[in-house]
Amino acid sequence: MPSYAVFLDRDGTLNIDPGYLGDPDKVKLYTGVSEGLSNLKKNSFDLIVITNQSGISRGLITLKDVNAVNLRVNEILWNEAKVKIDKFYSCPFHPDFSSEEEVSCRKPSPRMVLSAAKERDIDLTKSYFIGDKVIDVECGNNAGLKTVLVRNSKNDEEINLLRKRGISANFVAENFLSACDYILADFSGGIVEK
Ligand SMILES: [Mg+2]
Repeated sequence: MPSYAVFLDRDGTLNIDPGYLGDPDKVKLYTGVSEGLSNLKKNSFDLIVITNQSGISRGLITLKDVNAVNLRVNEILWNEAKVKIDKFYSCPFHPDFSSEEEVSCRKPSPRMVLSAAKERDIDLTKSYFIGDKVIDVECGNNAGLKTVLVRNSKNDEEINLLRKRGISANFVAENFLSACDYILADFSGGIVEK
């Protein structure tokens, strides 16, 4: 039987984004992230991170750094709420440094989501994307997911950009926990499609 998932951006959504995060000791999750993910997991959602990590192509961080940060994210989640991300997908490429084919994994392309769906037999029509940027909403739309944009202290411009481009997320959440609450309510039919 196909499963369903919540696809998650990492930097600026799960953790505070200092830019090209490569040091696991600097990982700091937003309030409510472990609780929200735990609530999703209790409702049988696969939890899958979809992240652009062009810092690797730029030579600022390494794949090993990205993996160390991912492990740290899971360590904190486990300590706080006995929950873990099931899988992390990272695109290390950037158009300035990589070929067109390589860059095709990069959000807003749905490619990483589609790979995950194939590998894990995920029903995308019952799945969601939570992110903090326009590219996350676009990636979710491109993959046929419902989308949630989470506000943080730095992304007001992203909300304006969505409007300017005539794109809309299914829901704009004030914080991560309310993004998860929306998904749980929507999934169970509690919220009527906008
Ligand atoms: Mg982000």
